[in-house]
Amino acid sequence: MSIVTRFAPSPTGYLHLGHAFSALTAWRRARAAGGRFLLRLEDIDPTRCRPEYAAAILEDLAFLGLDWDGPVRVQSEHLADYAAVLDSLRARGLLYPCFCSRADIQRRVIAAAPHGPDGGPVYPGTCRALSEAERAARADQPHALRLDMARALIEGLTFEEEAEGTIAADPARFGDVVLARKDTPTSYHLCVTHDDALQGVTLVTRGEDLKQATHPHRLLQALMGWPTPVYAHHRLLTDGSGRRLAKRDRATTLRALRAAGVSADELRDQLNALTDPPPALTDPPPALTDPPPE
Ligand code: GLU
Repeated sequence: MSIVTRFAPSPTGYLHLGHAFSALTAWRRARAAGGRFLLRLEDIDPTRCRPEYAAAILEDLAFLGLDWDGPVRVQSEHLADYAAVLDSLRARGLLYPCFCSRADIQRRVIAAAPHGPDGGPVYPGTCRALSEAERAARADQPHALRLDMARALIEGLTFEEEAEGTIAADPARFGDVVLARKDTPTSYHLCVTHDDALQGVTLVTRGEDLKQATHPHRLLQALMGWPTPVYAHHRLLTDGSGRRLAKRDRATTLRALRAAGVSADELRDQLNALTDPPPALTDPPPALTDPPPE
């Protein structure tokens, strides 16, 4: 089977070195195996995503010398696809509306509560207990849609983490994950699993901050009859003080580096040195020191 990888950034800012590392990892895996490398824009958050960032992603990847196969999939153009998945889950009684605000949830979750795949508190299930009459009465109020984990759970699921082998999926630990947000009619978990399946992705390379999210993703794949890619979560790049690179670190954006005169070859060499050989996930993350000033 031919390998298909992807890079799936959210256009909420300019790409930094961490993104470039991630994109290059996926691109190299595909190109080394004669496979396909796809680019997908995960732009479902209308408040944070901007067209200028989307355009900059394409430009920055081209600057790095990365080419992608086929058209770019832009998630906001496919909301009907995600709605169809929600319809299927709703018809099976696996979704329920949740009217809680973030503040409601924080208030109800005791300090020691476990954390979900995004590091946030696990939802305590408040709205799961609402009666049909209560739901009907509040149908016009803004609400999210959550997966009823207790009903949806399938025991015995596993996924392959390339550097570790078979991992037992434990989606229940993350509670009733959101599949449609209050502010947008879908969610990261739903879109990413749907699109990886639709696009025939066989190897998901992404930062280890998203590793825990694979647990609920595996359940969605099983519920929807989607194939499961192999996962290869990679380390996150940090700055000189060990802090993870983020969009706020303007000095490490590809644009800033480019403006400071760093060539694509230099950048690729620096990043390739980090990917080759692939690091063990238990290694401490390498520090990228002294980025050129903006
Ligand atoms: N869109 C996600 C992000 O920018 C990445 C999704 C994924 O690779 O699964 O963090």
